[in-house]
Amino acid sequence: MGLLREIEPSLQNVPVYLLSEAEWPSNDNSLDCLAYTGPFLDVAMSDYLLERGRWLGEGFATVLFLDRINCGMENLLGVLLHELAHWSLFAPRISRFDDAYVYSDLTRRLIAEANNERKLVELSLPPWEDHGLDFVRNGVHLWHRATAICPEIKPFHLSYSGPYYDCGEHVWPALMKDELRDLRDVPIRSIREHVLPNKLLPFWECLTAWWHPIAAIK
Ligand SMILES: [Zn+2]
Repeated sequence: MGLLREIEPSLQNVPVYLLSEAEWPSNDNSLDCLAYTGPFLDVAMSDYLLERGRWLGEGFATVLFLDRINCGMENLLGVLLHELAHWSLFAPRISRFDDAYVYSDLTRRLIAEANNERKLVELSLPPWEDHGLDFVRNGVHLWHRATAICPEIKPFHLSYSGPYYDCGEHVWPALMKDELRDLRDVPIRSIREHVLPNKLLPFWECLTAWWHPIAAIK
């Protein structure tokens, strides 16, 4: 956790919850990923964390499927930074719930409804789904920041591009060279408020031009 805050100082006052697969009560076996985070995962886990004296308030929570992650610091850090890139794009919470039980129950229902809904719209989702341009951009920033502390980490350890685009992770940093330097100290959640580097959008549009959404099945 200290390492994450060293890489991304804007996490200094943000609680970080690293959860194991056994701690996560989901029965969704369809997830074949190395880790999982979600917009309300912290709050959904708040009862559990409260009971164990680990709850410090809303923050970044992720479930790690440790059995699936290869050994080595770079692999684990890469997975964590991938999830952090997701978290960095979650919408800020606009209202507060004092009662964590009410909130987490609400969250459970929302997730269940979203899962039902999802089956209907699956075909209209692009293959990169939650890994759009802002995600890739933040992933590249996190990788770049991490190299100062863990020089062994390579872009592919974060898997921010290869599984979703016909383009390996190593291509992107060159397109963002100036921005990586200029926005080095900008909190990761604020990167998208800055104008995109010149070549980034046209490049992303070229990569994704082949895809056309199929209308949702009603
Ligand atoms: Zn992801």
